[in-house]
Amino acid sequence: IRVVMNSVITRFAPSPTGNLHIGGVRTALINYIVTQQAKKKYVKSKFLLRIEDTDLERSKNEYIEQITEALDWLGLDSDEDFVLQSSKKSRHQECVDQMIQDGSAYRCFLQKDELDQLRNQAEKKKEIFRVPQTYRDFSLEQQEELINEGKSFTIRLKVPAGETVFTDLVYGTIKIQNKDLDDFIIARSDGSPTYNFVVAVDDSDMKISHVIRGDDHLANTPKQILVYKALGFNAPIFAHLPMILGSDKKRLSKRHAATNVQEYKDKGFMSKAILNYLSLLGWNPDSDKEIFEIKELISEFKFDQVQKKSAVFDEKKLLWVSSQHLASMSVKDVMKEIALLDNNWGKDFEKSFLIDVISLIKDRSKTTAEILEMSKIFLEENITIDQDLIAKSIDNNALEIISDFKSALETQEQWNREAIETIFDNLMTQHEVGIGKVMKPVRIAVSGIPFGPGIFDLIVLLGKNKCLARIENILKSA
Ligand code: GLU
Repeated sequence: IRVVMNSVITRFAPSPTGNLHIGGVRTALINYIVTQQAKKKYVKSKFLLRIEDTDLERSKNEYIEQITEALDWLGLDSDEDFVLQSSKKSRHQECVDQMIQDGSAYRCFLQKDELDQLRNQAEKKKEIFRVPQTYRDFSLEQQEELINEGKSFTIRLKVPAGETVFTDLVYGTIKIQNKDLDDFIIARSDGSPTYNFVVAVDDSDMKISHVIRGDDHLANTPKQILVYKALGFNAPIFAHLPMILGSDKKRLSKRHAATNVQEYKDKGFMSKAILNYLSLLGWNPDSDKEIFEIKELISEFKFDQVQKKSAVFDEKKLLWVSSQHLASMSVKDVMKEIALLDNNWGKDFEKSFLIDVISLIKDRSKTTAEILEMSKIFLEENITIDQDLIAKSIDNNALEIISDFKSALETQEQWNREAIETIFDNLMTQHEVGIGKVMKPVRIAVSGIPFGPGIFDLIVLLGKNKCLARIENILKSA
């Protein structure tokens, strides 16, 4: 990655018009990774956060809070307090004024209805519509005369002749003929500056060296480069990341999957699993390795392994990534994650017992929420068994097996795996059935569900009293 001025300064620039979107998380992640890589060499590198709240009608404080909280939970910490774009208004105005004064921008008095009409005419003739440059060469005095007449105006950038060329870290060299860009608007008739204008001013003021964002902004980049040039600023390096699509190849939206990262948190996805999964959307590491800790992402991510092709979001794959992380984590670390989801979990139990519970179920769980759910077998006094499940799985033979299992437990003194296995062996011989015919009804009787951890470990950990109480209940109700 090319480095200017001995530091890499990146930014994530969400608009607070909604919750933090999963695509935004991917953008923030890559900015974060690139900055952490750079910090190893250039200590002054920074990852910054700018809240683009200039759309005052749609921007909400609650979204700012949600975005910053989610970034915090994800561990994508910015190196400074966030910059609120709306606090830079006077700076934006100053830059607009400067451009009017030095003639790199001009007031355009074409009215909306005139432009609409011209656009319609061009469309009818199947011609490309171009904004007429009627006012481009008006002197400041002429412009002021029109203002005095009460005419409203927008401010347009005087797009110079020639071409705009830049090298994108993903897309390579991109060349745009300037004549294909109209003299685009940098400030609307109400005076408010446009996105392409303020983003260039802010990125320059924040000394951003690398602008890394979704490729939906690729078409904006030449315009922003022209703003940099008009203001005499240096343009940063750009990298545009491939879009994230839903399964039908349309842009990822709520129709496909949850798009708000908070929902994934609530569903028990750990932040590192989400980040790992998102890193793979568009990035193809050299090897088959797919499970990465954040540290590994930082050492291995490279822009030249990022594809241009859009990536498809696949929640099943995310679940798999999540399960792989859970399986390789220590029980202690999983407990910390569980506490993030439910601070009260297991508070009435001994820590050593909780550790045993998690050890038994974490490797077969895909999310921490699944662990919480499965842990109810051990933590809740009473279980409710679905009547349909009983009707379907527990016939009279099964009831007899359960009842004989109960008698065997009652006289059982040693409480360990071998002892329980022996009870099962005896029941199989006594009833002349295979292991399944014993295991299934007993499992349902003691845990309420037909799947879960290994049956012997399950029974040992549940303890004699809980097992007996639950068996009595099912025998009573069946
Ligand atoms: N606020 C813009 C967005 O949310 C920022 C785009 C950019 O990174 O320049 O898409």
